[in-house]
Amino acid sequence: MSFVEIIARKRDGRILTREDVDRFVEAATRRQVPPEQISALLMAICCRGMSDEETRDLTDAMLRSGDRWRLADDWPKAVDKHSTGGVGDTVSLIYAPLMAAVGVPVAMMAGRGLGHTQGTLDKLHAIPGFDCERDRDGTLELLGECGAAIIAQTEEIAPADRVLYALRDVTGTVPSLPLIVSSIMSKKLALGAAALVLDVKWGSGAFCKTVPDAVELADALCRVGRELGVATDAFITDMNQPLGPNLGTASEVRSALQVLEGAGDDRLRDVTLALAERSLVLAGRDRAEARVDLEAALSDGKARAQWEKIVVSHGGDPDQSVLARPKHETVVQSETSGWIEKIDSEVLGWVAVELGAGRRDLEDEIDYAAGIAIEAKVGDLVEPEQPLAVLAAGERDVDLKLLESRVAAAFSVSAERVEPPRLVLGLLDELHATGASVDRDPVLG
Ligand code: URA
Repeated sequence: MSFVEIIARKRDGRILTREDVDRFVEAATRRQVPPEQISALLMAICCRGMSDEETRDLTDAMLRSGDRWRLADDWPKAVDKHSTGGVGDTVSLIYAPLMAAVGVPVAMMAGRGLGHTQGTLDKLHAIPGFDCERDRDGTLELLGECGAAIIAQTEEIAPADRVLYALRDVTGTVPSLPLIVSSIMSKKLALGAAALVLDVKWGSGAFCKTVPDAVELADALCRVGRELGVATDAFITDMNQPLGPNLGTASEVRSALQVLEGAGDDRLRDVTLALAERSLVLAGRDRAEARVDLEAALSDGKARAQWEKIVVSHGGDPDQSVLARPKHETVVQSETSGWIEKIDSEVLGWVAVELGAGRRDLEDEIDYAAGIAIEAKVGDLVEPEQPLAVLAAGERDVDLKLLESRVAAAFSVSAERVEPPRLVLGLLDELHATGASVDRDPVLG
């Protein structure tokens, strides 16, 4: 069958066979057909969707397009964590040392910032010397040395995803459930940890703007992970406001350190503990004991000490004083009194990118000093002139006045009392089992 026939099949809403899907992935990876044909098929998938079987076959084909590290063969308890992308989401920096401190190794592939979200890789690179480039042997070495390997995607891991992602980026085909699921899971499965815990975000700052969309994505991710042999669980969590108190790179490292020192931001701590507790359960630990061990590691300095080990093993300088500091700070104040009703995290994310915490194009340099500190949360009562956010500028030449006005407009204030949305909506399987309503946006009373 010609490639055009495969495109036409999907265009007409028909199911692709496993052979069709294999052909598509091979053609993309080996560049056997021109990019316009690959793009046409991507658009057909985006418009027509895929069945569960097609999505699984696509993930499997993308996984087989490159190397499989099967880390669980050497580290049978190694766990992996993935967030579908958020703003102020500093969790990975806390999760890895915390898990390692309680004796469960973590193998994570971290990415650069994407769109309005800041990437874990960029945050780690704010630490002078921190190096995430490792092959399989190097990853195993890190796991032995410090209990955590946080590595960048290599050329050999799911190469099909590199080709398809680049085309999706320029053809308006990123927001497609089967394409997102296959992209995320092919990379996770290629690493081959024994278990995977997913943090699927919903809300204004997330890919999924509603809870039902987040549940649909979480269902699909878990189904594919489990069918392809990895114990996979997912939480649905809130991204209607930034998760942590900082959006940036060096500033997020500082936020992580505060939580690792037993203090820090409660929301950041709560999401990290939920994900870590579930990861320990998947690694065979008792749930109640897991929570006790995790909380103890945060309060007795074990998790903080593990961070130091992880930084040193990855070649980084653990001295906090070497982290970049803002050159200039400007405070955005509330103009009225009332309760914070909404915070447009996506706008804040884009402003942080503009300030220097992300790239405006592929070649852009990150400015590690740049970012935004969030001073008010949804549900807070604010008075006129009370700080809402602090913009931290580094070396980049930006229009600060314009950015300040965008940040001010991202905060909506209500005259009525506002209840904050529930932070951790729940574990996917428990939400299904309890019949919790997942068809409307939940608010904690
Ligand atoms: N992250 C990925 O790796 N792929 C997507 O398609 C979306 C988010």
